Amino acid sequence: MNKFERRDFLKLGAAAAALAAAGCAGTSYKARVVVVGGGFGGATAAKYLRLWDPAIEVLLVERANVFTSCPISNLVLGGFAKMDDIRQGYDGLRRHGVQLVNDEVTAVDAAKKTVRLERGGDLSYDRLIVSPGIDFNFGEIQGYEPAMQSGRVLHAWKAGSQTIDLRRQLEQMRDGGVYVLSIPLAPYRCPPGPYERASVIAEYFKRSKPRSKVLVLDANPDVTSKAGLFKAAWKDLYPGILEYRGANKAIAVDAATMTVKLEVEDVKGDVLNVVPPHRAGDVAMKSGLITTNNRWCDVDWRSMESKAAPGVHVLGDATLSAPAMPKSASMANNHAKIAAAAIVELLGGRTPEPLQILNTCYSFVSQKEAIRVSSVHAWDDKERTLKAVPGSGGISAARTEAEGTFAWNWARTIWADSLG
Ligand SMILES: Cc1cc2nc3c(=O)[nH]c(=O)nc-3n(C[C@H](O)[C@H](O)[C@H](O)COP(=O)(O)OP(=O)(O)OC[C@H]3O[C@@H](n4cnc5c(N)ncnc54)[C@H](O)[C@@H]3O)c2cc1C
Repeated sequence: MNKFERRDFLKLGAAAAALAAAGCAGTSYKARVVVVGGGFGGATAAKYLRLWDPAIEVLLVERANVFTSCPISNLVLGGFAKMDDIRQGYDGLRRHGVQLVNDEVTAVDAAKKTVRLERGGDLSYDRLIVSPGIDFNFGEIQGYEPAMQSGRVLHAWKAGSQTIDLRRQLEQMRDGGVYVLSIPLAPYRCPPGPYERASVIAEYFKRSKPRSKVLVLDANPDVTSKAGLFKAAWKDLYPGILEYRGANKAIAVDAATMTVKLEVEDVKGDVLNVVPPHRAGDVAMKSGLITTNNRWCDVDWRSMESKAAPGVHVLGDATLSAPAMPKSASMANNHAKIAAAAIVELLGGRTPEPLQILNTCYSFVSQKEAIRVSSVHAWDDKERTLKAVPGSGGISAARTEAEGTFAWNWARTIWADSLG
């Protein structure tokens, strides 16, 4: 297939024409893969497709012009890292021959094998990868959308402008104020992420506003990840600062009175960080890729191919998680390698072999100390899914500064692996 054939030029708008003018026309490829979303899943898939078969043309459609990492974003909230630490451009992918299209995909037509771009025009594909991350079911918390639009209630659960806004609110909060963090019922992206956030913000208060409090309202009955290690850290490091309440689900929020309404009582705060329940990203919803509970996209774990749309592979947080599999950057990066390897096989007329994958999630409990959980997931032929390998993985014996160093190294390594 020739890059940007005449049919594409007829269909494409300014964005794609500009891409072709940037020196891409003329090369001949055996197939085209379009990737939607340049986060951990999509960026990694685009890169590895090019590494494993340079005869495949790869177009990555991403609406943002820089990548912003959720991992390490909690340290930005604590004042222990900068936005520049968690941002980087897409030049690394361009060097691998990935063609970047800075646009938003508004619809997928799996029958015609095209995606529609917001700025106009369609892109055709032989195989499609969709890794849009999450969007939120705002309607499950009454009053959420107006409260968020007022700028007073934030989730900051997609790193970016809300990370900056939440940090500013924490800096401006009076000493003696209350920061409320409301956690949705699982599954949500990054099971230990909220507890890491509570910990590093407690450390910030301990140093800079010692009369302030972190109040964690968890819809889940108990801490969902590394519970013993988090609770030990809170007891040792933040007594009188961090209070944890399980089974406290937010049902409404009011920015005018800065109140979170729970099933049994109302709680007031000075900074309200309410994280709503999640679902697969909007484009998955609009394109009929959601299969389960109106929220998640089921896939064949040997290829990441959608169970709703042949030829479309769904990665990362948008998937209906396999048993005991967290929604994490680590997993999205691994899903991408399953999909890239499978697509190379399928385009070569072969059958993909299942891969075994590894998850590792570090969490900071203070500026320097971290804890870790890891697991291995392998294909189970009988149950037709990936399952945690019994006896694999585990958690840190204790919080240490060495784990904190490993956590930063893990982040730098996955950024380089996904984008470098
Ligand atoms: C506070 C926090 C801390 C975390 N810490 C860790 C950690 O320490 N370790 C870990 O493993 N995981 C961590 N995670 C989880 C991790 O960030 C996610 O699991 C990971 O980002 C999922 O990758 P993804 O590709 O599914 O989605 P994302 O990385 O969110 O990427 C989705 C991309 O798609 C783009 N996009 C969406 N729709 C469209 C469209 N229609 N058109 C064009 N572009 C589109 C978006 O702009 C975005 O760039 C953390 C998450 C949070 C919130």
